[in-house]
Amino acid sequence: MNAPVFPVGNEKGCDRPILQERGQREVFCGLTSIVWLHRKIQDAFFLVIGSRTCAHLIQSAAGVMIFAEPRFATAVIEERDLAGRADLHDELDSVVGRLLERRPDIKLLFLVGSCPSEVIKLDLGRAASRLDAKLRERVRVLAYSGSGIETTFTQGEDACLSALVAEMPRMADEKGARLLVVGSLADVVEDRFRVLLEGMGIPVDFLPPRLSRDLPPVGPGTRFLLAQPFLGETARALEERGAKHLPAPFPFGEEGTTAWLGAAARSFDVPQARFEDVTAPARARARAGIARHRAALEGKSIFFFPDSQLEVPLARFLSRELGMKPVEVGTPYLHRKHLADDLDLLASDILVSEGQDVDRQLDRCRSAAPDLVVCGLGLANPLEAEGLTTKWSIELVFSPVHGYEHAGDLAELFARPLGRRGRLRV
Ligand code: SF4
Repeated sequence: MNAPVFPVGNEKGCDRPILQERGQREVFCGLTSIVWLHRKIQDAFFLVIGSRTCAHLIQSAAGVMIFAEPRFATAVIEERDLAGRADLHDELDSVVGRLLERRPDIKLLFLVGSCPSEVIKLDLGRAASRLDAKLRERVRVLAYSGSGIETTFTQGEDACLSALVAEMPRMADEKGARLLVVGSLADVVEDRFRVLLEGMGIPVDFLPPRLSRDLPPVGPGTRFLLAQPFLGETARALEERGAKHLPAPFPFGEEGTTAWLGAAARSFDVPQARFEDVTAPARARARAGIARHRAALEGKSIFFFPDSQLEVPLARFLSRELGMKPVEVGTPYLHRKHLADDLDLLASDILVSEGQDVDRQLDRCRSAAPDLVVCGLGLANPLEAEGLTTKWSIELVFSPVHGYEHAGDLAELFARPLGRRGRLRV
């Protein structure tokens, strides 16, 4: 029996039916986002309070050699901690003390909660406040949860950034409006966006910054664009501090990037001619980059399992700019308001599902027999063994895929597995 289909009421009154699924899920936990966050905030350290499983997850996901002195580690909760034979707060203080002695470059320390720390109800928020008060001259200490209980892997970034919002200084001049781009972007992508936005005369900051001391100010003069669709809590925290969200499709492909930049341009009264002058060369390059992969992707069907929360804007990009045919677009969570523009651009006969009941979704996928399946690592190998062609969704978060200059690279990420499968069949 299928789950009920009922209409969604987003702010624009979209009544698109969404299939709601509540069952067995196959997703990574929020700790995974440390892999890209530790590269982005270059003076931050992520100390996971967790188990050996947590340590193995991050170590293997990041693929970092131990002698490379990565800016993340796991303080492993041992059996005697679980048995209540040790004072965990004392143990944590001692671990943090040793860490800071060894790594004087750390200026921002995140205590990251996990399933084990949540199960034993270790209050990391309280621990962070205590350590922050003690060490404030030397390092800032914040806490957030990356646990896999009821979360998916991109929510780790949302939890991290919403913890950072509380630390952003108050905007001194509330009359001078500034744009804030929210979401961790590869430096090369951030630099391109800065050039385009400043070329239009828009003053812009980025969250997270590359160095923790450069946290931008926030206040009623802040207008923000989300660069990622999984930042609902961060957006809410910014709005509580007076910032205003600019609704837009997400900046994937030429169309999405133009609409996203266009939302900022409208808000800052940039004349149309100036917008055209600044964006035209990059738009042309994006169209050329996309065109190189159109023949490989046009007319091919694609099925998204819920994983990264990027699924809806990616399906919009692939269907509208490359002619692909999404069969089902599954996403772990659907923020109706933030995804309203992307949902509006997705053809109405494409099934959008939220949440997961993995067995039923596998049945739908097998019966659709799509040309390409986008899914997590756990499903990819079994589906490949059944003869389906897969793309790991986590790669889409690890790779620079936003904006004009990477539109062709983004298309290539989907064309590559199809090409590989074609070569294997020859
Ligand atoms: S946080 Fe939970 S789901 Fe993630 S690795 Fe640790 S135990 Fe596993």
